Amino acid sequence: MINKETLSLLVKNDNLPAFRVKQILQAIYKEGVEDFNQITTLPPEFRKKLADEQKLYCFQIIKKLQSPDGKTVKALFKMHDGALIEGVLMRFKDGRNSVCVSCQVGCGLKCAFCATGTMGLKRNLSAEEIFDQVLYFNSYLRQLAKTQNQGKGNEKGARVDHVIFMGMGEPMMNFDNVTLAIEYMNDPEYLEIAARHITVSTSGIVTGIEKLIQFPLQINLAVSLHAPNQKLRESIMPVARAFNLDQLMASLKEYNDKTHRRVSYEYVMLKNINDSDTIARELAALLKDQNCHVNLIPYNQTYLGFTNAGKTRIDAFKNILESHNIPTTVRVSLGQDIDAACGQLAVKEGENLV
Ligand code: SAH
Ligand code: SF4
Repeated sequence: MINKETLSLLVKNDNLPAFRVKQILQAIYKEGVEDFNQITTLPPEFRKKLADEQKLYCFQIIKKLQSPDGKTVKALFKMHDGALIEGVLMRFKDGRNSVCVSCQVGCGLKCAFCATGTMGLKRNLSAEEIFDQVLYFNSYLRQLAKTQNQGKGNEKGARVDHVIFMGMGEPMMNFDNVTLAIEYMNDPEYLEIAARHITVSTSGIVTGIEKLIQFPLQINLAVSLHAPNQKLRESIMPVARAFNLDQLMASLKEYNDKTHRRVSYEYVMLKNINDSDTIARELAALLKDQNCHVNLIPYNQTYLGFTNAGKTRIDAFKNILESHNIPTTVRVSLGQDIDAACGQLAVKEGENLV
């Protein structure tokens, strides 16, 4: 990303009037130009200089894969040090355009069912590397709308309006860069994505949840619970040994008391592991009287030996939770056909690079 401060310096150095900064910000972050040469309102020499010397994104776009129905687009990005990450755009029927971002290269927490976990943690992403994934898909949508609507005036609505931190990595292990990237996404001069449309998903890092209580923007918190008791949780999520279930639930109570925001629980439905009626009742008891919502996630196939619980089991599980007055939804999962769904993102160095 190129920010306002850098642009102000560049404009000043060329003795151009300050309004040029606003013009460029508008072109990149609202209109979604994919090249500085597209900013035709700028003096040609300055435009060329920007194109020669500056970059719109801090990474290279290596590959873009689209699902046959066009609803999911996955992109592979190569960082300055060669690290590879993936981001996914999901275009929902109701008009939402949601980007699933990565916040780390790999992940060190090694949940037993997650492909990203098998990579281990390579490094944290910078705020810019996180933000640019959203910018890339925003510009993609803006340009797509422009070509589809040629001559029909403004292509309203074609922008990224939701962001979820459910790609590679654990956001709470990269808290400062994640929150800075969110501030840029939310900033009216940049992408202006409503804070309430930004969701951070955590595997239950209590120290991060405590920091999030102090974060001024009203973003959503999703917690990957996946089991209603310590023993089962620990067996599929090693991170539960560091932050046990009692500590986690206590921190979420504090989060809820102080922010008055509802917590979303994610619960991946693993056949014969965490999907029985007894476990559903145990989950209902754990969440009793909480201001929360449960999102049941059909398991996306990996090579890790787990199987999805299946529709009948998921529906039965949902009915039990609902009979205990716990609002429950089943996640609509997009992108399995291009390995772009939750938990399927994992890049091996040198894999099929085009
Ligand atoms: N590290 C964070 C965010 C990234 S994972 C977290 O764990 O919450 C986003 C979600 O995908 C988590 O709920 C995670 O448990 C889930 N997930 C992991 N592997 C999956 C798979 N194969 N199928 C479905 N969901 C999966
Ligand atoms: Fe990391 Fe989340 Fe995958 Fe667990 S589920 S290994 S925390 S990315």
